Amino acid sequence: MTELVTAGVGEMSSGGAAEAVPPAVLALDVGASTIKAAVVDHHGTRVHEARVPTRREHGGQAALRAVQEVALDLLHRPGALVQAAGVAVPGTVGPDGSVTSVNLGWEKVEVVPSLVGRLGVPLTVLNDAQAGALGEGRSGCAVGVANFLYVSLGTGIGGAIVDGGRLFSGAHGQAGEIGHLRVEYPGRTCACGASGCLQTVMSAAALEARWAEVSGAALAADKIVALARSGSSAAAGIWQAAVDGLAAGLLHATTMLDPASIVIGGGLAGAGDTLLAPLRASLESQARPFHVVAPLHLAALGPWSGCAGAASAAWALLGGAGGPP
Ligand SMILES: [Zn+2]
Repeated sequence: MTELVTAGVGEMSSGGAAEAVPPAVLALDVGASTIKAAVVDHHGTRVHEARVPTRREHGGQAALRAVQEVALDLLHRPGALVQAAGVAVPGTVGPDGSVTSVNLGWEKVEVVPSLVGRLGVPLTVLNDAQAGALGEGRSGCAVGVANFLYVSLGTGIGGAIVDGGRLFSGAHGQAGEIGHLRVEYPGRTCACGASGCLQTVMSAAALEARWAEVSGAALAADKIVALARSGSSAAAGIWQAAVDGLAAGLLHATTMLDPASIVIGGGLAGAGDTLLAPLRASLESQARPFHVVAPLHLAALGPWSGCAGAASAAWALLGGAGGPP
């Protein structure tokens, strides 16, 4: 369990190091298409940052090499002394630190030993949604919020639960996998093998698949959202169905968790009010009398929530409760 409410990392922002060779940590957020990486100092400032392709299309080993390469690149840049590293991954992390990720083509990959051997610093691996929640809880829009749900809307959907100021990951590290709540009947087949999962309705991949069904053409999810915003009835219909599915999933989660706040991160959070306004309306129309619908917030750290959380986890390796030493 990782304490969120004490000793927060400072606001993450771009900028140069102010001191000579200050201590720092390396933070990586490995996505299905892009790796975001940063050297983060004890103020939470990103001293160096990089975004590189994950190269997943070349296989799981290529993705692991991409992680190693960007980590080594940042590790040896001047201006900060990296003492530990945190890696956020879109998958499950076993008790032994091995990672299974459909998005990365990894099946029980021993990420920790393979990276520690190359980097020479202590390293921890955590689920990317849990990293996002950790980042937002420490220095984003959920500072001081003891109970909240974090949902990452990207290629797929991730989720994480913060309860009593701590990440709640369940008995087997699986808690919060909101993307596989069933919200549609009979629904499309999900990558997990079930049907009607939330991420077959609301995710970048789902939007793109449904647009292709309607139009016969390929279009990126952010372009589909832009079309919906500009009044395209086909795009608006797909978007509203996705929003309604997300609202249904969030109400299931609300029934179980009664969160004080719901934080939406991931690439589709970039839709802003095009997401929040219809989502609030759909939540209100679908809510039952016993539901208390929590306020919705967009992740304040934007695309860097996961790196902020990975940095916090790395600082925790060096002592303390997840904050800087
Ligand atoms: Zn599923």
